Amino acid sequence: MLSIKNLHASIGDKEILKGINLEIKAGEVHAIMGPNGAGKSTLSAVIAGNENYEVTDGEVILDGDDLAELAPEERAHKGVFLSFQYPVEIPGVSVTNFMRSAINETRKAKGQEEMPANEMLKLIREKSELLEIDRKFLSRSLNEGFSGGEKKRNEIFQMAMLEPKLAILDETDSGLDIDALRIVANGVNKLKSEKNAVVVITHYQRLLDYIVPDFVHVLYNGKIVKSGDASLAHELEDKGYDWIKAEN
Ligand code: ADP
Ligand code: MG
Ligand code: MG
Repeated sequence: MLSIKNLHASIGDKEILKGINLEIKAGEVHAIMGPNGAGKSTLSAVIAGNENYEVTDGEVILDGDDLAELAPEERAHKGVFLSFQYPVEIPGVSVTNFMRSAINETRKAKGQEEMPANEMLKLIREKSELLEIDRKFLSRSLNEGFSGGEKKRNEIFQMAMLEPKLAILDETDSGLDIDALRIVANGVNKLKSEKNAVVVITHYQRLLDYIVPDFVHVLYNGKIVKSGDASLAHELEDKGYDWIKAEN
């Protein structure tokens, strides 16, 4: 599904990604771990098409499409979802109304009609029940005064509604309490299927107690320096990142 080959990316004069290779198949959950500053968020931003980064070499192919040719919105329409992509506060626009427009925009981009209102309602009901999101939450203004846990809930709801092919969850290193961890993990576990893939980026192993990845990769200094199964995350928890740094 996703094939990353020799990906190099820079910001200004500084090279941050220095030759990333990664193959992700449908149905798989991959975790990307690594110390602060390794380039984890940069990798997710580059996949999503953030224009602050310049890809200087290599390629990212999603289902045969070269993502370099596509603007961020087009990537989203092709099913790439990055958490924190819509962190804006929009007073007066509810969580559900925001989703309605996002979904219809995607359909429009694909040349489809708007989703009929009853179908939309059904989808909202189905996804909110699955994720145990209550009605009151759905009618709140987008991100306005949201707690950390509520922001996560909203993100996971967006993911559930958009049914992305490739979901990338960048859990920025701090501020995820145990509630938020459970919300994220629960959402991912309920939504993963044979048709989609999930990439969980995390500094800490604890999220991976709830989402068991098929593969774990360690990103260090702009490269994937080690890959393994879920046990690698435990090894990192025990030993920290110093041995990785020493080996590289
Ligand atoms: P991680 O998510 O693994 O902590 P990042 O991808 O955020 O790492 O950052 C990787 C490196 O790129 C760091 O050294 C960081 O300082 C640098 N970097 C990231 N974004 C910018 C930016 N906008 N301007 C300059 N340097 C940046
Ligand atoms: Mg960081
Ligand atoms: Mg980061």
